[in-house]
Amino acid sequence: MNGSDIIVAGGGIVGLATAYHITQRYPHFRVTLIEKEHHLAQHQSGRNSGVIHSGIYYKPGSLKALTCRRGKALLQAFCEREAIPYETCGKVIVATEERELPALYRLYERGMANGVQCEIINADRLQQLEPHAAGIRAIHVPEAGIIDFRLVCERLAKRIREAGSEIVTGVKVIAAREQSAAATVSTTMGDFNASYFVNCAGLHSDELAMRSGVRPPARIVPFRGEYYLLTDEAKALCRNLIYPVPDDHFPFLGVHFTRTMAGAVECGPNAVLAFAREGYRKADVSLRDLWATVTYKGFQRLVRRYWRTGLGEMWRSLNKKAFARALQRLVPEVHERYLRPAPAGIRAQAVAPDGTMVDDFVWVDTPRMLHVLNAPSPAATASLAIAEQIVERLAERF
Ligand SMILES: Cc1cc2nc3c(=O)[nH]c(=O)nc-3n(C[C@H](O)[C@H](O)[C@H](O)COP(=O)(O)OP(=O)(O)OC[C@H]3O[C@@H](n4cnc5c(N)ncnc54)[C@H](O)[C@@H]3O)c2cc1C
Repeated sequence: MNGSDIIVAGGGIVGLATAYHITQRYPHFRVTLIEKEHHLAQHQSGRNSGVIHSGIYYKPGSLKALTCRRGKALLQAFCEREAIPYETCGKVIVATEERELPALYRLYERGMANGVQCEIINADRLQQLEPHAAGIRAIHVPEAGIIDFRLVCERLAKRIREAGSEIVTGVKVIAAREQSAAATVSTTMGDFNASYFVNCAGLHSDELAMRSGVRPPARIVPFRGEYYLLTDEAKALCRNLIYPVPDDHFPFLGVHFTRTMAGAVECGPNAVLAFAREGYRKADVSLRDLWATVTYKGFQRLVRRYWRTGLGEMWRSLNKKAFARALQRLVPEVHERYLRPAPAGIRAQAVAPDGTMVDDFVWVDTPRMLHVLNAPSPAATASLAIAEQIVERLAERF
């Protein structure tokens, strides 16, 4: 590993896209990507909904909006070049009650401001697109799509290796420290030097930053997203992607229906606090992670403000009937007996000390390090554009 120009921690889609972009832009650089698991994309990047987001939700001008739009175009171009399958199947965002209409129109305006191809449709048109969805009006986003992000990660890894760079798995980065001319990266395999260090450790990014002497502006709180799959007899209830009008405070809440590239239909998520950063099952508990979360002032303030919403999510986590009822708002024919449990995902949600959930992507840099400290959805869609921005920041110092 010695002799790297840049060491990247984290073999999720953001770390891989960053390493890939460096090898493309600077073919003479040697990058080493270090992943603690034995395989790549074992966490958020390999356990997500597989939606190519259009960028309709994000505040115009924000990093999320800009990188989502650019990232989507780069991702699709990469998939075309690499013959990675994806489908531009379209999505509907459905208002089921009159009181949701102002928010639906605000979202449409936002989509237009972000340059997203979208239109308001009436109930008849909704019936044509999604015959089982109940709604009085909706936004149709024909350019939204689906993909298997694991395939993208695998292909990025292949191209990184072909460019002469290295991917090391089963090795954990413990910390990095900077000297005037280099960064020393301590790992479970020993210390290594590089000119620059990039932290793309997802759910662990804040801890790694702190161990490297950087104070993150927010801490990661892990939320488990719990899903069901529709049984084969019920799969026809959703053709593509059926979403509710999002709550401004919790854009990632609100159960929805997502067809996957494998032909399944996923319903969810239900978001509950995970008792371990990588605790995919309800019974997974890490006392260390849990203690870090519950003693964090930002988390305590979040709970004080939104405990009602949190309890609702916990109730649905324990009660399948309640989960089914939430789904029936969008598709009334969904019955509890059509739902079978699906693997959960864990979302790295950055929470600021004042208890607000950090909405935009965040990275913090020092002369020899760059730490990606908030890369929630749509970071998989946006990954190649996030990588461009990261490399642009690093390039100022090369
Ligand atoms: C349930 C769910 C659904 C989602 N749906 C979508 C979607 O449909 N579309 C979309 O665009 N986005 C979606 N997202 C968001 C998207 O998946 C993530 O934003 C993205 O995958 C983040 O990538 P990452 O590389 O930052 O993190 P990760 O994929 O979590 O990768 C971080 C990596 O760092 C490694 N690591 C951690 N600590 C260390 C260390 N000390 N040393 C070495 N390695 C380390 C981890 O093992 C991991 O492999 C979803 C997320 C979730 C959780």
